[in-house]
Amino acid sequence: MASYRDVTCVRRVMGKCAHEADLLAELTRVCKENGVQLGRVEAIGAVRKARVGYYHQDRREYEFHTFDGPMEIAALVGNVSVKDGEPIVHAHVTLSDATGRAFGGHLAPGTVVFACEFVVEAFDGPEFRRTLDEPTGLPLWNLK
Ligand code: ZN
Repeated sequence: MASYRDVTCVRRVMGKCAHEADLLAELTRVCKENGVQLGRVEAIGAVRKARVGYYHQDRREYEFHTFDGPMEIAALVGNVSVKDGEPIVHAHVTLSDATGRAFGGHLAPGTVVFACEFVVEAFDGPEFRRTLDEPTGLPLWNLK
């Protein structure tokens, strides 16, 4: 059974990342600077290189892949919540290469911005705190 809470969008911040910034760190910084502890993130643009994770459900661990070279951010979607008392951005990214092929995964530190336009939506609502989820081994929202 799904667990969920009502949230209300109270604010939007729209901007661009600095050239050659670390994409995940930059989006996290925007959230911290604007006091966003609950919300969603979307972005499009391009990266110089990317690092994305794939979660092995059987081994319960991430495998990270680095893709060196320019790629489009065809889509980045994510959310903002709290883990260990700090706002964190959890985002997944779809990247496309020069041939138009797409791939992607869990956005990890080490993804370097070429150009990126983002929208952050801040929500008002209950705290979505991440704690270890036993069935998955992941830090998921604890909505009990
Ligand atoms: Zn993920």
